[in-house]
Amino acid sequence: MSPAPFLRPIEWLIGRFSIDMGIDLGTANTLVCVPGQGIVICEPSVVAVRRGTNEVLLDGQAVGTQAKEMLGRTPGSIEAIRPLRNGVIADFEITEKMLRYFIRKVHKRSYLVKPRIVVSVPSRISPVERRAVINSAERAGARRVFLVEEPIAAGIGAGLPIAEPVANMIVDIGGGTTEVAVISLFGLVYADSKPVAGDEMDRAIVDYMRRERNLMIGEPTAERIKLAIGSAAPLRQEMEMNVPGRDSVTGLPRQTVLRSEEVRQALAEPVRQITESACRALECTPPELAADLVRTGVVLCGGGSLLRGIDQAFADVLQLPVRIADDPLTCVARGTAEFLNQLHLYSGVLASEDD
Ligand code: ADP
Ligand code: MG
Repeated sequence: MSPAPFLRPIEWLIGRFSIDMGIDLGTANTLVCVPGQGIVICEPSVVAVRRGTNEVLLDGQAVGTQAKEMLGRTPGSIEAIRPLRNGVIADFEITEKMLRYFIRKVHKRSYLVKPRIVVSVPSRISPVERRAVINSAERAGARRVFLVEEPIAAGIGAGLPIAEPVANMIVDIGGGTTEVAVISLFGLVYADSKPVAGDEMDRAIVDYMRRERNLMIGEPTAERIKLAIGSAAPLRQEMEMNVPGRDSVTGLPRQTVLRSEEVRQALAEPVRQITESACRALECTPPELAADLVRTGVVLCGGGSLLRGIDQAFADVLQLPVRIADDPLTCVARGTAEFLNQLHLYSGVLASEDD
């Protein structure tokens, strides 16, 4: 294969040794997808640092799964940080270190590695934040960085016909944010991002347990409850589980049996806020396109779409067909890799950046 005419020979050479990748920089999980290989990394977006510094523990290796295990149980000198927690990059330096760790992990070596990288970003991030993501990825080792709006990546990953002049609605319920978008002809007809998603559901369970059961639990326990018996609509078979915590009156550890009906009650408010943002999207969509949605319906993705009955909750509120994307947790990441494959198609119409 000869170098493409628009590449300098050195860039072509470097490209041959690099693995291009699409990155879904999520508030809860970071996924890396390599065209032709699929998902190669899926780890929590967590970094463990020495408190008060940006020094990543274990020689820069305390990232992802290893770091998540430290969340909530770190001794005083260690801090486990989620640098994207609220959907925007709260800590650039740490985000960059995290990106660097994942990029190196894909390549398994650190020299002569200059991949092209597509990063999905929330649709409403500011130009300053866009620049900062690009800089982080470049400093983390990218040769070229392209940004793609997360709902577009999600739409591609979910196999929606986003290039057609037909409206499709996609709702991505992540950890920190829910992104609602209506897509047509490669573009966002409507996009909104709301800081109510999986994390807020966990907090609602923590609050419920304290208020109704006098039991203090941490967010990781609340998340386990949500995954095990959480729901947004009545279940055919209701469930229960034992929940350990600390009694808020006596201060002593104790267990209690929690029923799925109670968890549903705890989750009702965040679920209502999430479905309401889809309602608003519908109201703000031009009539012709809104009419399309009656046929195309709504596609849900992101980890939050795995909550039992959430499709039912959306269908009840929107009165539209609702479906959950295949493999909703990897939808955006697969979309970014597909975007890489088809840069020639997308780069003219979508946010892309080069050096
Ligand atoms: P992000 O894109 O923000 O990183 P993800 O799409 O990876 O987020 O989703 C993470 C969220 O999904 C977390 O809040 C997690 O608790 C939630 N989640 C994952 N699996 C389930 C499930 N089976 N039921 C309910 N919530 C889930
Ligand atoms: Mg996401």
